[in-house]
Amino acid sequence: MSTGIVIIGAGPAGVSVVETIRAIDREIRIAMLSAEPYPPYAPPAMVDHFITGSGSHFWRGVDWPAQAGVDYQPGVSVTAIETQAHRLRLSNGQALDYDRLVIATGSRLYAPLPGVDLPGVYNFKSLSAAEALVARVKSGEAHTALIVGAGFIGMEIALLLRELGMQVIQVEMLDQVMPTMLDAHTADFALGLMRQRGVDVRLNTKAKAIVGNGKAAGVELESGEFLRADVLVAATGVQPNLDFLEGSSLARNWGLIVDDRLRTSDPDVYAAGDAVETTDRLTGETFVHAILPNAVDQGRVVGLNLLGYEVGYEGAERMNSLKHLGLPIMAVGLKQGDEMLRARLDGGWRTIYIKENRLVGFQLIGNIRAAGALRTLLYRREDVSKLKHRLLEPIFGQGMLVWGAIATNS
Ligand SMILES: Cc1cc2nc3c(=O)[nH]c(=O)nc-3n(C[C@H](O)[C@H](O)[C@H](O)COP(=O)(O)OP(=O)(O)OC[C@H]3O[C@@H](n4cnc5c(N)ncnc54)[C@H](O)[C@@H]3O)c2cc1C
Repeated sequence: MSTGIVIIGAGPAGVSVVETIRAIDREIRIAMLSAEPYPPYAPPAMVDHFITGSGSHFWRGVDWPAQAGVDYQPGVSVTAIETQAHRLRLSNGQALDYDRLVIATGSRLYAPLPGVDLPGVYNFKSLSAAEALVARVKSGEAHTALIVGAGFIGMEIALLLRELGMQVIQVEMLDQVMPTMLDAHTADFALGLMRQRGVDVRLNTKAKAIVGNGKAAGVELESGEFLRADVLVAATGVQPNLDFLEGSSLARNWGLIVDDRLRTSDPDVYAAGDAVETTDRLTGETFVHAILPNAVDQGRVVGLNLLGYEVGYEGAERMNSLKHLGLPIMAVGLKQGDEMLRARLDGGWRTIYIKENRLVGFQLIGNIRAAGALRTLLYRREDVSKLKHRLLEPIFGQGMLVWGAIATNS
């Protein structure tokens, strides 16, 4: 008897696989497992949810699995995979067989920091972790927080904790916030906004260890200084959730290795989302591109390939946006080129990076209306040599004007 498709993980990647399949085929059996005891949720909406109580993180609705015709098993982890037998070992002691498998297990906290496993150290990488942090903050017993790391997720946590009335110190070992995505100029602007919001961000400040007697009490810095706080949060990075692959033959580096059909080294096992290494659409480099739109796109490709369409994946985008700073900030592509254009715009900035007359990246603060047109130019690899003088115009990218300009230029 056919055991159908099994999807490990109920994040945006897993949900996208199901929605793609169900748009075409209502019959095929699909089972979905989630290590967490919730309906599928979208992590980017967690901050809004904890501020407003909206429940918007359950973005497809809490009864989505039933509506999608999925045998959903929340609170069940996969502990091992036997690819030869097409069998999964589960945390509830049972086994589950599959015809074809999708690994969409996302990522979790990566924290190479002594003391990070002490009770009283929180993170925000999953809904379970975020619930625990917010419960502690709302207990009324905690007034000060110390966040290690000022990457994207660390910034989101800092703003949320301020919103919830905490005093927040944030330490970052590098000389800017969001070092992976933002150029120094945009990062400096973002830092100013963080400080205006009352977050005490300290750059060039490296945490050596989280310390405490049986319970985390504070952070020892490389400088020797000790910072004490009621709540300690690690936001030091993410790593793919792939522990259950221990002993399996599936090829992996930091993330799972897949081909351009998003098939792993086993032809019956596909993978999508934060657990996977994919090529960068712009540079061709291979790494884990852990953002939601990539997870959704990859889920679509996997869904179609499971139905036999043989669809190739065109590569991941490098992009990020910050929504909770008061002014929107968006960074796309690279943060350097052989030419840089920059202008002050509507109280924010637009910065554009060009290499060999091709747009390779841009950073927008405030007015982000040009994002769509700039992204199109970037991924179509348009020669922008005749268009440069227009790229910084406030109206660039709005309506016919830009499309006319692009047409004339190409
Ligand atoms: C606070 C926060 C804010 C973010 N904001 C943005 C944003 O603004 N824009 C953006 O593009 N991206 C954002 N991201 C990143 C985005 O959330 C991820 O790229 C996206 O969720 C990846 O989807 P996924 O399905 O691969 O993994 P996940 O969403 O991580 O889902 C993984 C699923 O796998 C399950 N799982 C894991 N291991 C097992 C196991 N062994 N057995 C069974 N189930 C398992 C988990 O329980 C979960 O259901 C944010 C992330 C966080 C944490």
